[in-house]
Amino acid sequence: MISEIVAITHTTPIGKVFDENHICGVFDSDVILHKVLEFFVTYNVDAVIIMEKSYPVGILTHKEMLRAIYNYDNTGLPVKEFMTAPLKTFDTSTSIADVIDAMQELSFDKIVVHNEKNIIGIIDKRHLLSLCYTHITPLIKHEYNMVQSLMGLVGQDEHDLLKMATTDTLTGIGNRRLFEEIFQAHQSLGDRYDVNLFLLLLDIDNFKSINDTFGHNVGDSVLKELAHLITKSIRKSDIFVRWGGEEFAILLRYSDPIAVMKIADQIRKRIDQNSFETIVHVTCSFGLTSILPNDLMEDVFERADKALYRAKADGKNTVRMEIP
Ligand code: GH3
Ligand code: MG
Ligand code: MG
Repeated sequence: MISEIVAITHTTPIGKVFDENHICGVFDSDVILHKVLEFFVTYNVDAVIIMEKSYPVGILTHKEMLRAIYNYDNTGLPVKEFMTAPLKTFDTSTSIADVIDAMQELSFDKIVVHNEKNIIGIIDKRHLLSLCYTHITPLIKHEYNMVQSLMGLVGQDEHDLLKMATTDTLTGIGNRRLFEEIFQAHQSLGDRYDVNLFLLLLDIDNFKSINDTFGHNVGDSVLKELAHLITKSIRKSDIFVRWGGEEFAILLRYSDPIAVMKIADQIRKRIDQNSFETIVHVTCSFGLTSILPNDLMEDVFERADKALYRAKADGKNTVRMEIP
């Protein structure tokens, strides 16, 4: 059912994992079980999709079908009585990484993929993970080997020194130097791997008045608490650093600007809703831009800064994007 020939990375759109002639069963929720059973027997599929008013509302798996027909009387009943609902659907353009993230978060084992007009098929979490494993692991291995050989060039003392030099002492997260190193490494890899990179710059709103009202130590605790909160809100693979003062930068890999805009707004909301020690309410403004393969770091920061400036001018506690 699932195409094995496409080169898959985590940014591949989910629609690509289906080959052209895969079979997808779609039934109205009022159809009797017997009809669906015929389909299962003819096409030997894992699951079918159940629709109401042209909208997918559930799935009936092979296992559920076996359970249902165990009682022969059931075969005349509508399929909706046996399906699994609710259901999560994804557009074919959603990246594999975003689908996996959502499946983990919702603990759904199967999801439905559709485009503007049609239902394309069902994806099973285990199948998707194994597909990713076979395709993505060689890429990760390549990057890992590269890091290992770089590490091999420096001894333990130098390694500790390097760690010290790339860590922000107040917050414990990375610093500007770490960002620069990783940005350069990504830029040289970016051409070869199908990776979309974004820079998200964030600046605490009215931080000066926090310092002035509560003192510098409370200001420092806000920086630490904020760094901790953001670390929890992003993926381990995202590079998060303190850029300087009360500004932070995040390097994100996402499939498209809409997905990354949504993530930025989630981070913004999480900060807005967090109860900080002593001063309780803190907000941040965000500037977002995508990174082109040949972009210099100065160009990228100039765009993100421009977006951040607009976020401040538009009343703060908001996200703005600058398109290259
Ligand atoms: P805006 O909403 O426009 O961003 O205003 P703001 O007050 O946040 O920005 P401004 O640039 O006027 O002030 C930033 C302040 O951040 C001034 C500086 O003293 C303070 N700051 C920078 N680094 C640190 C630090 O490490 N600890 C503390 N406590 N304060 C810092
Ligand atoms: Mg600032
Ligand atoms: Mg500020």
